[in-house]
Amino acid sequence: MVDPGQSGPTVGEGLPPPGRGMLKELGLWDDFLAQGHTEAQHSKAAWGSPILQTNDFLLLGKGCGWTLDRPAFDRLLHARAAACVDEMITGRLQHLQATAAGEWQATVDGQAVQSRTIIDATGRAAVVTRLLGNRPRLEDKLVAVVREGTVPDDTETGVVVDAAPEGWWYSAPTSPGRRIWVWMTDSDLLRSQPAGDRTRWHQALAASKIMVSLARGARFDTWRIVPAMTQRAPAAAGSCAYLCVGDAASCFDPASSQGIVKALRSGLFAGYALYDCLIKGDKTAFDRHRDHVNAEYVAYKSQHRLHYDAQTRWSDSPFWSRRTGNALDHAEPTTDHRQDEPA
Ligand SMILES: Cc1cc2nc3c(=O)[nH]c(=O)nc-3n(C[C@H](O)[C@H](O)[C@H](O)COP(=O)(O)OP(=O)(O)OC[C@H]3O[C@@H](n4cnc5c(N)ncnc54)[C@H](O)[C@@H]3O)c2cc1C
Repeated sequence: MVDPGQSGPTVGEGLPPPGRGMLKELGLWDDFLAQGHTEAQHSKAAWGSPILQTNDFLLLGKGCGWTLDRPAFDRLLHARAAACVDEMITGRLQHLQATAAGEWQATVDGQAVQSRTIIDATGRAAVVTRLLGNRPRLEDKLVAVVREGTVPDDTETGVVVDAAPEGWWYSAPTSPGRRIWVWMTDSDLLRSQPAGDRTRWHQALAASKIMVSLARGARFDTWRIVPAMTQRAPAAAGSCAYLCVGDAASCFDPASSQGIVKALRSGLFAGYALYDCLIKGDKTAFDRHRDHVNAEYVAYKSQHRLHYDAQTRWSDSPFWSRRTGNALDHAEPTTDHRQDEPA
């Protein structure tokens, strides 16, 4: 296993109820509970109307969800993965080449590493895909302006969403006494919006009564802009013995709240595929995994369309008109031309 060591904080705090099944399957359930993540019985959203609606997880018969202390959650997954491997190499994957024998020769922080197969779990950076000369296909220009801070007497436990004319807000607790406020919009629209400027960000927040009510007495500290585009890895060329999991395979709109569960599920299935391929000699195992990832993406796209179509206000706004009606059918996917450099 190759791990970059210290990496920056990851955004994504809402773990919906299906997360329970994944964590149990991975044998992480008790350790997860011991970490004391905040139970969320609901999420709330003012999406198709200005009225905040509660989506009660228990009424849906799915059990509760959680708002995660994400760094602690990532540490838990990391420790379990590290405990399951013979060797852990700390460093960044920098170069990759297929050998004549159909295996892989990689360079990790200058150190040569040989491998029979590769699983790309490098998230949105999709490092293996890029090192093989390909680029993820981008479906939109969504970015997130992320602001975190302390807030006193916070009683709201779930994710709260508020749609606005040029994007949408969400807020969630991150750890005791701390909360995140996130503005989601398109990168080209952000340039002319106050939320894109750290000093004017408060003006943007002030336009959302719901977000303001979650920011009473807040002291804001961090501010950053992170990519949030829907994207997918291109089809694997030929019989390459590698798989993509999690965001390296596909990134969903954060409105879906599916990213973490999807990453856990595809990682789990990749483990089965590896076993079938390497131990049982099943040459079709990786193709089956890719088929699963593709089917999941197709299902996501139709849910995504329904979700955005439910928002009928502001039909003239670029942000919403790009996502509603037939707009998505006509949107040309673009290729992510960021530098080939591993993240
Ligand atoms: C604004 C926003 C809000 C979100 N909210 C939610 C939410 O509420 N619920 C939800 O389920 N999902 C949410 N998501 C999505 C979710 O965070 C991701 O889907 C999830 O983190 C994907 O996990 P991953 O393991 O595939 O990738 P990541 O969590 O990104 O992990 C990738 C790993 O690869 C490592 N890596 C990168 N480059 C290299 C390299 N060269 N060599 C070695 N290692 C490398 C990184 O250091 C990192 O450890 C949100 C996303 C965004 C942008």
